Amino acid sequence: MARHRVPITPPNYTLWYEHVARANEELSGAIEGLIARGGALSDDALSELHARFFSAPPASLTHLDADASGALRKMLDGVRKMVASACTKFGGYGDTLDRFVEDMCEEPSVGQLTQMVGELVSRTSELREETSQLQLDLIERAAQVQSLQLQLEETAAAAVTDHLTQLPNRQVFERTLEEMARTALHGSHSPTLILVDIDRFKSVNDRYGHLIGDKVLRIVARTLKECVRGGDLVTRWGGEEFAILLLNTPRSGALTVAEAIRTALASRPILDEDGMVLIDKITASLGVSWFRSEESFDNFIDRADRALYRAKQGGRNRVVDENH
Ligand code: GH3
Ligand code: MG
Ligand code: MG
Repeated sequence: MARHRVPITPPNYTLWYEHVARANEELSGAIEGLIARGGALSDDALSELHARFFSAPPASLTHLDADASGALRKMLDGVRKMVASACTKFGGYGDTLDRFVEDMCEEPSVGQLTQMVGELVSRTSELREETSQLQLDLIERAAQVQSLQLQLEETAAAAVTDHLTQLPNRQVFERTLEEMARTALHGSHSPTLILVDIDRFKSVNDRYGHLIGDKVLRIVARTLKECVRGGDLVTRWGGEEFAILLLNTPRSGALTVAEAIRTALASRPILDEDGMVLIDKITASLGVSWFRSEESFDNFIDRADRALYRAKQGGRNRVVDENH
């Protein structure tokens, strides 16, 4: 990123991560094309790429990383100045030594020699002070770099996490899908996709307000996570929809998980701050599909989506798989 003067912001980081990981050949092709054409990548070109390949990040993240990027630039500038000043001082010290050697060739008197040695002693102690200051400065800068590194790691994590539910976002889902497709082909069970869509969620918002709606989304997210094993992936697909990937689970087991999710949600009332029941139950419809080797991810997702649609049509609060 530094080589091409790409500012470190979450969208740019996401672009670069995908590019370097070679996770998206089309994206890498677009980036390499831009580099080949003009060298520097303009902000406009980068935001266009991001809009094309990913959805927009939350504004707070852009702000956070603009801070990190600004701090990093300021710090590097400080180090550059420090090193430049140290180089000047070392250069001056070198000149003093050269002069000392030249003067020595001219057989100086004891008086001149005393003066020369005096000057050398004072220059040497100046330089020692300079270098110990430089050392302190560098220690301080190293601490700053470490804290920036932490900040950037947090930003990288935030770029793949849904802000509201703290679940991994759709980008993680897609990346994991690719990984699963590659590895699960060798396993004994094909990956299962369960799409979960909360029933009549719009009326929850309309009746209780968006804040309660958000709380319901968080509770649903937690419930979904409680119903799957650690190795399975629960992601927020978008809005009031969630996508779950089960790896190497037999079909009957996957349907049991989907049914367990449905009943867990339907038996969990939403309480208000005083612990009183606000909404007696939230239900969801679930569509299930199984990955077929060689098929496109779109087909895999589409079959779960169509099963979900049939679950809605069939009266909601039910699990429907691709075969029914
Ligand atoms: P259906 O049973 O057919 O799925 O009906 P529905 O009302 O759940 O579906 P619809 O697509 O009509 O509405 C989805 C609602 O989800 C509308 C939207 O305002 C709400 N929603 C999406 N994202 C969020 C969010 O982050 N917070 C809140 N509070 N509501 C959200
Ligand atoms: Mg929906
Ligand atoms: Mg819905």
